[in-house]
Amino acid sequence: MHKSEITIEVTLFCPFECPICSSDASLNGKPLKFDDIESFLRKNLPPSGIYDRIDLSGGEPLSHPDIWKILNLCHKIAKKVRLYSNAIDEWAFNTTIIKNAKFIANVPLAPNVDIHIPSPEDLEIHVLKFIPQGRGKKLQPLNIHFSSNITNPEKCNSCTNITLKGDGTVAKSPCRKDDIIG
Ligand code: SF4
Repeated sequence: MHKSEITIEVTLFCPFECPICSSDASLNGKPLKFDDIESFLRKNLPPSGIYDRIDLSGGEPLSHPDIWKILNLCHKIAKKVRLYSNAIDEWAFNTTIIKNAKFIANVPLAPNVDIHIPSPEDLEIHVLKFIPQGRGKKLQPLNIHFSSNITNPEKCNSCTNITLKGDGTVAKSPCRKDDIIG
């Protein structure tokens, strides 16, 4: 079975022990052996000999004792390497070496979980649908509905809804209330 993208949970150690953790990671979690990670990656190499992307997650992947070796291996056999980590508050990098670093904030949607949306500058927001697995297996998934101005922004252009505003003016649809039409 060959995949162009592949995910490895390099360790089940994590100090945060979130109740929704899909890996059931904890302070007692152990890392995978480097040799096992390498043989898994080589066995599943796509026919091109290079993955489009390798995702390294956990637990907390930066706690893996061989994380540098793992990263070096991944960079040799993947166009991109993505690391999921909660170990660093501020990340500084050298643009001579990494020209287009990408930062992604994962926002998990789950019952009784604090939702924090970071500042949008230079940040791509990924909203994660909670999947009941791992330690979160017993929690109920949320009934999530995205409004059509997210799923189908083009629809807003043809929307014929109108709104009587609190100041007596008439505007276009509730998401275009700055467009006064009467
Ligand atoms: S791996 Fe992520 S979700 Fe799991 S306990 Fe650690 S921080 Fe929380």
